[in-house]
Amino acid sequence: MEVLVIGAGLAGVSSAWYLAQAGCSVTVVDRQPGPGLETSFANGGQISVSHPEPWANPSAPATVLRWLGRSDAPLLFRWRADAAQWRWALAFLRECLPGRTARNTGAIARLATYSRLELRALREHLGLEYEAGDGGILHLFENAREVAHLPSRLETLEKFGIRGRILTPDEAIALEPALAARRTHLAGALHGIDDETGNAHLFCTALAEKAVAAGVRFLPNNTVYDFDVIRGRIADARVFDAAGRAGVLRADAFVLAAGSYSPQLARLLGIRLPIYPVKGYSVTVPIIAPDRAPRLSLTDESRRVVCSHLGDKLRVAGTAELNGYDLAPNPTRSAALIDWVETHLPGATDASRAEHWCGLRPTTPSNVPLIGHTAIDNLFLNTGHGTLGWTLACGSGHALADIVTRQRPEPNFPFLLPKAG
Ligand SMILES: Cc1cc2nc3c(=O)[nH]c(=O)nc-3n(C[C@H](O)[C@H](O)[C@H](O)COP(=O)(O)OP(=O)(O)OC[C@H]3O[C@@H](n4cnc5c(N)ncnc54)[C@H](O)[C@@H]3O)c2cc1C
Repeated sequence: MEVLVIGAGLAGVSSAWYLAQAGCSVTVVDRQPGPGLETSFANGGQISVSHPEPWANPSAPATVLRWLGRSDAPLLFRWRADAAQWRWALAFLRECLPGRTARNTGAIARLATYSRLELRALREHLGLEYEAGDGGILHLFENAREVAHLPSRLETLEKFGIRGRILTPDEAIALEPALAARRTHLAGALHGIDDETGNAHLFCTALAEKAVAAGVRFLPNNTVYDFDVIRGRIADARVFDAAGRAGVLRADAFVLAAGSYSPQLARLLGIRLPIYPVKGYSVTVPIIAPDRAPRLSLTDESRRVVCSHLGDKLRVAGTAELNGYDLAPNPTRSAALIDWVETHLPGATDASRAEHWCGLRPTTPSNVPLIGHTAIDNLFLNTGHGTLGWTLACGSGHALADIVTRQRPEPNFPFLLPKAG
């Protein structure tokens, strides 16, 4: 079977790898000159299985209201005359109901644990190098009320076989001495023992190289702008290349893995996807004092900031802004991340040499990705991974390949199934 994968980010490259392993003849098309150059480029670097709870949870509406009007708020709605944004916000509110949050947390937790196993298997099998780190993620809390909720949070994780332990501030500092400067602010921590880190862009590039060696064809600098549908099936995707020359790409099956742009392509086929771009920022700063830089990955739960040690740099990422497809830099956002690293890890990095970046998380209201069939027989989705696209990449890619090749995917997850009849 010939398969065209649209998008060479984490979702597309991993789909291509597993489809090729399943015996398909695969082409990956992307408008960028190489893999992983959009949202998968400089994310927080966390394989964060210990954080399956979505943004949409019972406490979210009050938190969003509290942050309303603050330009440095961790989660910011910039209201626009945009029906898609309002629809998304209403659906988000619905997903905050306790029963829905529990269901979504379970789906994400099961896909995430599967995905981490798949990532480890790939790393070992292929010898992939992507600045991988283990040792887990330390979730940091500055608020005693949040710490009081940790036992029930841990109980939820353990239900899905995710290992964690609750730490006092002193225990957290014993595990990660770089936190010493924050001793007086820290109220407690949760250690996600088996979590990992890694550079998503390097991973995309490394896996794409292996995929090419396994026969996958990559077609960079080509933008899909339309499809030809014949008798209810997609016959081909229409593309133009960097010089503006038009072409067509034929295949038996098509996989939409175009991140935040998946809804725009799906719309051409009359399909509405509940995905909205949620903008986030990162700064990558060179480490100048290794003894002051954390070895473990950190999640500052009070400020929604994550920090990962990647090679000889620290990547600090966070903030979520719903403001359409706007990719313009916002100096307040970047400054907040620089401020975070300087206050929390004083002297560890040279912030004057920071690399600034922002990207659009392809986010569903529930944060549960869309993987599987569509109303069009030969169109499949692997998109909408929101805050966890790196965490869920390998598991989603493998499951997608199983679905396309009519195998049963392993995890218990709400995959999109074909409509009966
Ligand atoms: C600040 C920030 C921090 C994050 N931190 C983490 C983290 O620590 N851990 C985690 O698990 N996740 C994290 N994420 C989320 C994660 O990065 C995303 O979920 C993931 O990168 C999405 O991958 P994707 O392949 O779906 O999309 P993308 O990487 O955007 O890939 C889509 C591809 O489709 C291509 N494309 C789009 N339209 C077309 C077209 N018409 N024709 C051809 N090609 C097209 C694009 O060029 C792009 O390469 C973070 C995100 C952000 C923004």
